[in-house]
Amino acid sequence: MSEYQKPIPEPDFDSLRFWEECRNHHLVLQRCGQCQRFRYFPRAICPTCMSDQYEWEPVSGRGSVYTYSVVERPPSPEFAADVPYVVALVELAEGPRMTSNVVGCSPREVRIGMPVEVTFDDVTPYCTLPRFRPLAEGGR
Ligand SMILES: [Zn+2]
Repeated sequence: MSEYQKPIPEPDFDSLRFWEECRNHHLVLQRCGQCQRFRYFPRAICPTCMSDQYEWEPVSGRGSVYTYSVVERPPSPEFAADVPYVVALVELAEGPRMTSNVVGCSPREVRIGMPVEVTFDDVTPYCTLPRFRPLAEGGR
């Protein structure tokens, strides 16, 4: 069994819950207890109102492609087998934008504004990455 060679996230105090929930195939975001806005990436202080009060809340996992790039040249040898692949900024239905990949379709099919939904990729027994795929037909 080959070992996963690509970089993986190293959870810190603020992001640990996010990555733990991903392992369970749940997408959660911090929601400010003061202004009620969702935020991503995980951090201690609300970027809007500076409150340190927040809760973790499940979110829909739905959103749309805000912008994207097709990677044609691997950034390091570990990614050579993956090209071409899509790095996208996905605007979640709850507001925050998340850097991820769009998978499950040809890179040529990706468009700005395309509806997507989260899918979870268990890259190691301890790390699951949230990626996005085209929203299934009829999904709302
Ligand atoms: Zn706030």
